[in-house]
Amino acid sequence: MAYPAEFLEELKKRNRIVDVINSYVPLKRAGNLYTACCPFHNEKTPSFTVYERTESFYCFGCGVGGDVVSFVMKADNIDYGSAIEQLAQRAGLTVPDNGYDRESSDRRRRILDANREAAKYFHNQLTSGKYKEATDYISGRGLTAAVRHFGLGYSPPDKKLFTYLTDLGYKPNELADAFLVNRGGYSTFEHRIVFPIIDAAGNVVGFSARSLEKKPAEGQKYKNTNDTPAFSKRRNLYAMNFAKNSKEDFFILCEGQTDVIALHMSGFTNAIASLGTSFSEEQAALIRRYKNKVVICYDGDAPGIAKTNAVIKILSDAGVETKVVSLPDGCDPDEFINKYGKERFSLLLQKSIGQMDYRCGQVLSSYDLRSADQKTIAADKLADVIASVYSPVEREIYTVKYAKQLEVSEESFKTLIEIKHKKLKKANKKEEQAKIIRQSEGYGDRVNPDKLRMTRAANAEEAILGIAQISPEFLIQAEKDGVLNENDFKTNFNHRVYTALLDCVKNEGKYDISFISSKFTPDETGRITRMLISRTDLTDNSYGVFTEYARALREDEGPKENGAASYDDIQALINKKK
Ligand SMILES: [Zn+2]
Repeated sequence: MAYPAEFLEELKKRNRIVDVINSYVPLKRAGNLYTACCPFHNEKTPSFTVYERTESFYCFGCGVGGDVVSFVMKADNIDYGSAIEQLAQRAGLTVPDNGYDRESSDRRRRILDANREAAKYFHNQLTSGKYKEATDYISGRGLTAAVRHFGLGYSPPDKKLFTYLTDLGYKPNELADAFLVNRGGYSTFEHRIVFPIIDAAGNVVGFSARSLEKKPAEGQKYKNTNDTPAFSKRRNLYAMNFAKNSKEDFFILCEGQTDVIALHMSGFTNAIASLGTSFSEEQAALIRRYKNKVVICYDGDAPGIAKTNAVIKILSDAGVETKVVSLPDGCDPDEFINKYGKERFSLLLQKSIGQMDYRCGQVLSSYDLRSADQKTIAADKLADVIASVYSPVEREIYTVKYAKQLEVSEESFKTLIEIKHKKLKKANKKEEQAKIIRQSEGYGDRVNPDKLRMTRAANAEEAILGIAQISPEFLIQAEKDGVLNENDFKTNFNHRVYTALLDCVKNEGKYDISFISSKFTPDETGRITRMLISRTDLTDNSYGVFTEYARALREDEGPKENGAASYDDIQALINKKK
């Protein structure tokens, strides 16, 4: 095993799964378990479940599951070693030094430490007053008051950062890995104002840097840290470390760091910025971890509008409610606040419009409604937008509203929308049904692909492995009694689980999923957890039941007996039933 059992037990005792998950998604108590909308797939009704008794979680929608360690791995997209380290940090524990995968988590840790030192260095350069161009830029942009709070800095165009960090013991290849210096030893962000990017856990994960050149070349205005073992642009949002704690129930999403800083300094501490050009699904998931409403406040120019539409789509798909603030032509939030002050911005926020009105408004403004042809196209496009609304009441409201604006009859507009809506619904339903069939018949079962051919055996195996997780001593007993051994297992995956469980019980004298989870992928851990959970609510998990399943498994002769051998057979069965 990777880490000593006592350490893992202490780690889990101090990181109760309910507390940890609750800091990512708000959990609701339901009897003796907790539920939430799954942070890993899009859903409107909660199927994500947390079990206090077994310290595990499972999502009945997407099949993700495991313990607190696998949750952190999946939620923060980090490896096993890093998740252990993060939880140890949270609980004030020291990770013992003989761990598995130390290398990759060490590498990440070293980069984070080097980043922190670099951030200090940049900050000291800026506040030293030695670099007039830098201080002029800061005061010119009204950022002086923000320097400390946001840890702003300046990177001189020289090799001193390299010397500074190597003197602290960092190796040149570590600094290159961290994207802090280039091959020649010069600072990557030479002659730029540096904005440290801090993740939700308070680590300096990377930097975004603004050029001080008067006319930076195309695309050179901002330079971000490339993806490193500690940083991914797709998974971070600027100022999230502050904004996640704001009292408001929504985020203000801006394009640039300076927008965010201007807003924070004016009291809008819920502002965040996407880093770089395109907003990602991962960023939407990060947002939903804290709040489920976003007011988009991108620049008021044409590219800003195009980006707004893209963001609306991604956030809506992630189940986040979106509104849009319209800034006066060509203005960005930073300029707006500096010009008109925070009260006027508050008014704009109050007047922000829902994403439906925003999208419909755009269709209307792109066509000349006086021309019959263009009006027909506009009506069709509007109908597409409205047809995508799930709630019939809401659909009705928009139908009435926009029929009026288009000056077409409400009835014919409604007919058009309902036809489109039915089509959409049918397409969605078909896709969903196909998915359910695939899943229930073992199709697309990437975790245990043998299950389709050997459904009955696999079911017996899963019952055995479920009970074994509750009473691990049964495994030893059954082996001793000669009723179960590894040759009985027919499917490859379950055979692996059995061996891992048995080894664990033999070596440690007890079982916990964190003892074996380093041997499995997160999806596999999810499956193992499901086996446990599907037994947890049953009253009889005695040794008698266990051996009954063992006998059934031993008597099972494998593929031939299981009837359904191919997808065609299943289809034939389904058709016959119909
Ligand atoms: Zn899920």
